[in-house]
Amino acid sequence: MRSYAFFLAVLFSAGMVTSCGQTRGNDAILPDRLSVVAATSIIADLATQIGGEHVSVTGLMGPGVDPHLYKASAGDVTRLSGADVILYNGLHLEGKMADVFERMRERGIPVFAVAEESVTGEDLIDSELFQGNYDPHIWFDVTLWRHAARRVQEILAEADPLHAAAYRERLASYLAEMDRTHAYVRERTAAIQADRRVIVTSHDAFGYFGRAYGFEVHGLQGISTAAEAGTADVQQLADLVAARRIPAMFVESSISPRGIEAVQEAVRARGFEVGIGGTLYGDALGDPDSQAGTYLGMMRTNIDTIVAALAGDPV
Ligand SMILES: [Zn+2]
Repeated sequence: MRSYAFFLAVLFSAGMVTSCGQTRGNDAILPDRLSVVAATSIIADLATQIGGEHVSVTGLMGPGVDPHLYKASAGDVTRLSGADVILYNGLHLEGKMADVFERMRERGIPVFAVAEESVTGEDLIDSELFQGNYDPHIWFDVTLWRHAARRVQEILAEADPLHAAAYRERLASYLAEMDRTHAYVRERTAAIQADRRVIVTSHDAFGYFGRAYGFEVHGLQGISTAAEAGTADVQQLADLVAARRIPAMFVESSISPRGIEAVQEAVRARGFEVGIGGTLYGDALGDPDSQAGTYLGMMRTNIDTIVAALAGDPV
């Protein structure tokens, strides 16, 4: 993009761009698109939705990758170094990448913590375990993720003012799609009896989801997967599931199912049989070819999985 801006400047100063010749000549001088490198698949999807044809988005973490534990590879550093703009979630989600983002900032590359910059104050959920740290999984409340979408539009427009109008238009239609998805999740939730709206998963990714859509949530691990669950955590969660006779728990696509399977065993030892209601997409999107390959599709896939497991009737 920088080279494109330079090239345009040369064209204008040389008087080569004329009102009638502009379109014809453009094919030959098509610029490289704005190069955006995004840390997580969820942020990469947001940049793709807002940027459209004017951006080239590279996501560092693919399907099933846990951002809490992810470390940048040598290849990632090369990709980050070549970016026009770097986007990540922030709020310590990518806890082991802080240094590499700092290095990129020092090199003069614009780096933005999209979630951290767009959601503040009362909207954030405090973490009981880490004082002063907030739950980073804000995308699970679609109304909060709208702020992140607006922030990405601002960032892209600033980096690439030539296409600012296009980014604004794409944002407007994406916000409308977000509203439809938010309504879908609420509507599907109504199919579950109020006392069965309990989500038990591998880690505490669903706090914002629970607050927005009316679920009680329990994660075996805390808001980060960096600290492993201990025997006491397993027993405590098993007590709760058995006492409340919760019909199903969920595993997560970016975390080993072993922890939840251990809870299932412990529940069985208490004389109650709890099912595994399927896989929820927590911190990473699904395969690009699947419905869960986009953020909005992932939200729909998750609520369908939750309803199928907890409502007791087929989806
Ligand atoms: Zn997480």
